[in-house]
Amino acid sequence: MNIPEEVKEIIQTLNINGHEAYIVGGCVRDKILSKAPKDWDITTSALPEQIKSCFSHTVDTGIEHGTVTVIINKNNFEVTTYRIDGDYGDNRHPDSVKFTSDITEDLSRRDFTMNAIAYDITNDTYIDPFNGHCDIKNKIIRAVGDADTRFNEDALRMMRAIRFSAQLGFDIEEKTYLAIKKNFLLIKNISIERIRDEFLKLILSDVPEKAVLLCDTSLIDHFLPELKEVFLAESELIKYSFDKLEKSIALRIAFLFRKFDDKAVSLILKRMRFDNNTIKEAATAVKFYDYPLKEGYYETRKVLSMIGVKSFKAVLNIRFLENAFNKDLIECKKLDNIYDEIDDIIKRNDCFELKDLCINGEDIKKNIDGANGRVIGEYLKKALDIVMKDPTKNEKNILIEELKR
Ligand code: ATP
Ligand code: MG
Repeated sequence: MNIPEEVKEIIQTLNINGHEAYIVGGCVRDKILSKAPKDWDITTSALPEQIKSCFSHTVDTGIEHGTVTVIINKNNFEVTTYRIDGDYGDNRHPDSVKFTSDITEDLSRRDFTMNAIAYDITNDTYIDPFNGHCDIKNKIIRAVGDADTRFNEDALRMMRAIRFSAQLGFDIEEKTYLAIKKNFLLIKNISIERIRDEFLKLILSDVPEKAVLLCDTSLIDHFLPELKEVFLAESELIKYSFDKLEKSIALRIAFLFRKFDDKAVSLILKRMRFDNNTIKEAATAVKFYDYPLKEGYYETRKVLSMIGVKSFKAVLNIRFLENAFNKDLIECKKLDNIYDEIDDIIKRNDCFELKDLCINGEDIKKNIDGANGRVIGEYLKKALDIVMKDPTKNEKNILIEELKR
């Protein structure tokens, strides 16, 4: 694994100043799995003020919890003091945190054994008091300590367990899983944004069909009961399709909701605080999922004029995968042809939007007697239809002549 120079520099600087420092958490897990880590977390015996005094550029990211961001070469690295979490009054965050000089105490507050390993980059040794290595080797997600207690402390960990199982393709150890089944109701104490983010990581993962675990544990009842039947009934289809579907949130959400009413989908996504663009993109694909598509450039331009390239391609993708799964090759061929037509239309720059017409409202007012107000809009729509039928007619004189008729 290539540890970035900046990480080495941070650890060496802390060491020179008399502090212990390790990389820890997801990056160590990923290193053992030979995966490229997303970010590098550093844990240290140095207190926050001591961390700050070792580096010229720092930001107090979460200083009350011991986290200081160290900036080197414009890259950010989170450095956190070893800490012990106090009681969790709200099943969400600790009422207080206490700093400690014992790395094992810090590792024991972490969620799963695979995430509770520290790595000493200087001596190439691991500190692994909970046998995380063994669980990683056996592809097992196991709570650190008593699972029941750990999920009571922080109920988000239940979502994290299932999300990691989808990202890594690991199984959840039995006691840990039973503790989720027992404590699922505690998820009500977690904000919908945090739950949604875990859910999104799950559906963007390599094993999204693990969503059935959200159903089996009843966690989904709290935040997305509408999809429970979908995940249970369509597990195989989801596995097949998501393997080939682009990792786009809107596209995957649209796939899962494709048989729903688009207005209902918008409301559900609003409730889950999705951003407006994602809601619009997903709802449009859902709305046109069962639109009676026909081959032919005119038909294709008409749909393009209604929903644009991105949404049209999304609809085609969703329908193609579903039909391929059901082995309806005739339907697949048709969808494929329409897809090619879209690409041709783009390549040829065919007009399918009012803004690309060679005439505007002014032209119509000037050249057609009595055309004003709302009628102008009707004329423009008519002109667009003429051009969508025959793109060579996108010329001012031709269109005026046709409209006069
Ligand atoms: P990812 O690859 O998704 O970033 P990660 O393991 O790095 O996975 P983070 O959320 O970045 O996850 O957290 C970093 C580390 O902090 C974890 O590996 C774990 O040790 C600890 N951690 C994070 N969230 C919790 C939690 N809710 N409870 C206990 N420990 C946690
Ligand atoms: Mg991380």
